[in-house]
Amino acid sequence: MHPPYLWWSGQRVPWDEAHIHVTQLGWPALTAVFEGIRAYQSRDGTKTSLFRFDRHMARFRRSLRFMQLESAWDEAALLWAATDLVQANEAIRDAYVMPVAYGEGGSRGVMTMALGPANIYITTRLAPSKLPDPPALRVAVSSWTRLNDNIMPPRIKAFVNYLNSRLGQTEAARAGYDSTLFLNTAGKVAEGGGSCLFLISDGVAVTPPVTAGILESVTRESVMELLRAELGIRVVEREVDRTELYFADEMFFTGTMIEIAPIRSVDGFEVPGGAAGPITQRLMTLFERVVRGEEPRYRHWLSPIAAR
Ligand code: PMP
Repeated sequence: MHPPYLWWSGQRVPWDEAHIHVTQLGWPALTAVFEGIRAYQSRDGTKTSLFRFDRHMARFRRSLRFMQLESAWDEAALLWAATDLVQANEAIRDAYVMPVAYGEGGSRGVMTMALGPANIYITTRLAPSKLPDPPALRVAVSSWTRLNDNIMPPRIKAFVNYLNSRLGQTEAARAGYDSTLFLNTAGKVAEGGGSCLFLISDGVAVTPPVTAGILESVTRESVMELLRAELGIRVVEREVDRTELYFADEMFFTGTMIEIAPIRSVDGFEVPGGAAGPITQRLMTLFERVVRGEEPRYRHWLSPIAAR
């Protein structure tokens, strides 16, 4: 099942009419970048709100710039497009909104990175939140190494980077784990296949720095702020060794799709209690209140969309 519409280069288009030529599956795909943004329904069901649209757009702009793509639509136009699409697809519920930008043409343009105008489309789909009580994950450190800034920069949200994620996720799934965790080229902990990592040790939250070969996650920066400002937890960005994962008191992934997901074990080493710890639990409860608009101090993180 797909929603009735998507948005494509300036217009809302019926899903089944959004065609491009088959050859566009080749070279142009190398340049494709995207964002994943969640919309969260308010408790009273009257509206849904895009979470930190501006921060996602800031990253989208950087991804486009890196690929030498120029958008004809500014942030306000894309917000309008996303709002209209969510309304039209009747997704005044928890949803996932995905803007995608790509260049056109053959190998020449793509290889020289002199591409010019970006095509942009946006899709939405229903994506019910698992908060405040998601299942705790069994994670394995991957035998694959995370991409590096000098190889293919992980801070760019490019589709091609997800081949690296796919290798790790597939390996973990085959071995019976729920998820994967990558070490970077320096052998330090980087991130998951589609999420960033936090661990709690002796009451301090630790997360690998943005130079560790990670995507600069919007959820990560939001969680850092909530931990510090609301829960009074010290947050440290520093290199993390693999074996620190085996001794952490609590651990969780953060990301738009995964939200905040507790980790119950890494490589078979269980966290104490084998489930979400107390700080993770408090954070998940608070995060859900924030995204559903129940914390006035964080309403500016939300772009509300009313039912049509
Ligand atoms: N790392 C990777 C590789 C991701 O794909 C994602 C999901 N976008 C994240 C981290 C988390 O980023 P965000 O919180 O901005 O969704």
